[in-house]
Amino acid sequence: MSHRIIEVLVPIPINKTFFYKLPNDIKQIPKAGTRVIVDFNNRNLVGVVWGSRLNENKERDIKNIKEILDDEPVILDEQLELADWASRYYHYPLGEVISHFLTPSLRKGKKASFQEQAFWKLSNKGEFIDIKALRRAPKQEEALMFFRGRSKELPQRIILASGISGQTLKSLENKEILVKTIKTLDPKVDPLNLQKERKHKLTKEQEKAVNKICTKKEGVVLLNGITGSGKTEVYLEVIKKIIAEKKQALILIPEIGLAPQAEGRFKKRFGQRVASFHSAKNEKERLDIWLSMKKGLVDVVIGTRSSIFLPMSNLGIIVVDEEHDQSFKQMDRFRYSARELALYRAKINKIPIVLASATPSLESLKNALDNKYTHLRLTKRPGVAKLPQYLPVDLRGKELKDGLSNELIKGIDVELKNNNQVLIFLNRRGYASSLVCRFCGWVSSCQRCDAHMTVHRNPSKLHCHHCEASQSMPTNCPSCLGKKFESIGLGTERIESFLKKEFVSYPVIRIDSDSTRGKDSFIGYLETIKKGESAILLGTQMIAKGHHFPEVTLVGIVDADSGIFSADFRGSEKVAQIITQVAGRAGRGKKTGRVIIQTYCPEHPHIERLIDGNYETFAKDLLEERKAANSPPYSYQARIQTESIKSSISRDFLDEIWKLVESSSFPTAKIKKIGPLPSFMEKKQGVFRWEINLFSDTRKNLHKILDAINFYLRESPRRNKVRWTIDVDPYSTL
Ligand code: ADP
Ligand code: ZN
Ligand code: ZN
Repeated sequence: MSHRIIEVLVPIPINKTFFYKLPNDIKQIPKAGTRVIVDFNNRNLVGVVWGSRLNENKERDIKNIKEILDDEPVILDEQLELADWASRYYHYPLGEVISHFLTPSLRKGKKASFQEQAFWKLSNKGEFIDIKALRRAPKQEEALMFFRGRSKELPQRIILASGISGQTLKSLENKEILVKTIKTLDPKVDPLNLQKERKHKLTKEQEKAVNKICTKKEGVVLLNGITGSGKTEVYLEVIKKIIAEKKQALILIPEIGLAPQAEGRFKKRFGQRVASFHSAKNEKERLDIWLSMKKGLVDVVIGTRSSIFLPMSNLGIIVVDEEHDQSFKQMDRFRYSARELALYRAKINKIPIVLASATPSLESLKNALDNKYTHLRLTKRPGVAKLPQYLPVDLRGKELKDGLSNELIKGIDVELKNNNQVLIFLNRRGYASSLVCRFCGWVSSCQRCDAHMTVHRNPSKLHCHHCEASQSMPTNCPSCLGKKFESIGLGTERIESFLKKEFVSYPVIRIDSDSTRGKDSFIGYLETIKKGESAILLGTQMIAKGHHFPEVTLVGIVDADSGIFSADFRGSEKVAQIITQVAGRAGRGKKTGRVIIQTYCPEHPHIERLIDGNYETFAKDLLEERKAANSPPYSYQARIQTESIKSSISRDFLDEIWKLVESSSFPTAKIKKIGPLPSFMEKKQGVFRWEINLFSDTRKNLHKILDAINFYLRESPRRNKVRWTIDVDPYSTL
């Protein structure tokens, strides 16, 4: 007798499928993308069906599938194709890639259905039973009275709220006095509503962009518009047409903090069939959105990078907003870039994709300049809003007050007195970068990292930003017992405390990952800012991204230099992006804006370019530099990093793997290899890290060599002593 063999993927770090038998009593063959429960090394795992075939070989001793969890696939064919591609592109096990397409509750094997609710009503017996029968159970008696007063079925939520316990309900169910039913709550679906008119008439540039995108059936558009030029307005208009064709739109945004603003704006335009998806949603909410997308009950979803894995049965367009942003890249385990996945998904679905940014990544800009992408520019802000004016402040020889120059302090004063808002940007949180003993020079180093512990004041502590280690502030120097310390380096808390003293009568709102830890505190801050009263906003890159603050007229960049002199070849690109973005928060309303840039090297060509305020010219210069150095995007990069408890183990492992690769037939000559070298922060979180960086002129050769490396990494007898990762297109060299 022949057997139906099912090929199953399980979420384990082995890149292959496993075979199970379909039990004979199951006639329906589960389709690819259906969840099943299988026994894997005596553990029950939730797997996903990848394929099936007939097997004539009776002898093969393979286990039965234990259970089929879904009537229809939970992962669509196009998603399976995307997963397969991503697994090969990032050299990451397919079973683990696949699990990204499931929400946490689906991964645990829960039912793929909307939230369920229990309802209770009296049974026939319950209607007529003599109440005295429950005399010995006063709580049940009370409950019976409660039900007698109401003839209808009641949701459990309401019954519990009235003080009747779940236990009482259960007892009455056992006595067949009450009957319980479980109902799935399909969400109320609002009708499609596209009647809402937009406030303004599109500018000529916007109009042209909308038409261009709408006539495209597929392919990539780089929507390259200066900050505040109305890019969002353009894709809102495009999406309106997509929805009218009964298709769905996916908008990827870089930061959870931007979700409320975006969701609000979309709902205003499109009504309620708009959802947002990100990690702050709980399991049930995520499953509901997941289902709504799959069933086509939602037309637009706005979400952070993991939204690229949502099942959209009728996707019509993808927008990647702020496409240059590093948060689209997952930095651990499966190191995918949501932008790359989005590009591939659009290709599979044969739909257009829009990459929007005022400061496109060099990768995307190059593709646009090479005419691989359609390049659309928005060069003006609509209406009266103008781009801000840049004013460099040369810090050499100047007295500074907690890092701020007189020019900047005066500038803040003037704007506040004119009822405007000011935004101060420093990309370093905490009070100071480190604590130093005034007598012996002891420095607050982290035990587990090659890094200093940052000084925090509120609450007072030393904190390592790389491993989250934390300790109280020393009263005596651990080395010489001295009692005098100096805080070295600037952080947002320090500037905050200075500004609060200097500008006593104005609110100072600090926004960084410390101050916004509470669930809704960020939204609260944003609302205060939106009220438009004069205030100082102060923060890290969290305030640089995409926010629209119409009352901000002055932006102060406290330290423009740090990224320019970074050891990372992407340092200048990142600084240019972030400073252009922060500067773009100024002058977005009716008032014009200024940007004060503090620097110790105003004549450095990169700083000069920044002060010109023209990102594209700057980016083209950087592209020339990259071309000369043959670095990405003119070559393709991958990094292999090892981690272990001893530096030499991490290094030797890489050496060994590389020797094996060289002895095989792989084209190592075509690859530029740098390393093994200790990673930028060799010791991090108590482990020692080494790496090899590979650069190749073709993707093909890079993939070939990574296949080889992956093979040897997995086969090596030492693999259990070392943790390793392969990072394709790493975002940072550091
Ligand atoms: P971006 O996404 O490029 O940063 P937005 O789409 O958020 O820009 O637009 C910036 C501001 O300009 C918003 O307040 C928006 O309402 C306004 N705006 C956009 N397009 C127009 C237009 N055609 N006329 C007037 N105001 C506009
Ligand atoms: Zn000391
Ligand atoms: Zn640390």
